[in-house]
Amino acid sequence: MAIRRKTPVVGMAPAERARVPRSLAARRQRASEIYDILLAQHPTAHCELDHENPYQLTAATILSAQCTDKRVNMVTPALFEAYPHAAALSVAEPEHVEELIRTTGFFRSKTRSLIGMASAVVDRHGGEIPSTMDELVQLPGVGRKTANVVLGNAFGINEGVVVDTHVARISLRLGLTKEKDPVKIEQDLMKLFPKENWTMLSHLMIFHGRRICVARKPKCEVCPLVELCPSAFRV
Ligand code: SF4
Repeated sequence: MAIRRKTPVVGMAPAERARVPRSLAARRQRASEIYDILLAQHPTAHCELDHENPYQLTAATILSAQCTDKRVNMVTPALFEAYPHAAALSVAEPEHVEELIRTTGFFRSKTRSLIGMASAVVDRHGGEIPSTMDELVQLPGVGRKTANVVLGNAFGINEGVVVDTHVARISLRLGLTKEKDPVKIEQDLMKLFPKENWTMLSHLMIFHGRRICVARKPKCEVCPLVELCPSAFRV
């Protein structure tokens, strides 16, 4: 059986492991260092859901629940060709939408959300996806996370931080939060990082979580955050 190495890189004894400072000012300074390192590591981090407008991004984000972005990107071209705007999707036959999105999983409930979202957009917003958090979260199938994705990436509005499974895991490992609930994690991140960086922050963490700080066996040996991370070689 392979033995997992618990002691990190040479020169970093267990007693020297990274500590999270107590004061908010020091934690903000540390968060800023983490952000800069992640940005240097993943300078091209971006939303990996293919989209050309707010309608497409809203639909793609609904489809991304419990599904990879890669899989979503495989089904959305046909979906958007058949239903190029909310008005078209609002009158779609559910069976046809189900067939188009079947491989993304939970396709019946996602179809209900897509058609419900499109109908509400037509009824309440003249067919255009709204650009405020309050209006977005009133749409069927749209929660705070989806709304943050749409606001940040389709409208360029930093309203909050998208907390998905990668952001939640990395925030916990790096000691940026002690919470497990996404809404509470988001509140902690919003206190630590400047507002103008919130959208990019989630892209950086998602890129890092997919490539280095992966769920099961993080690649601490090649992670540029190793000296700031209290979880380095401990996961
Ligand atoms: S040092 Fe390891 S646990 Fe910490 S952020 Fe990097 S990969 Fe993740």
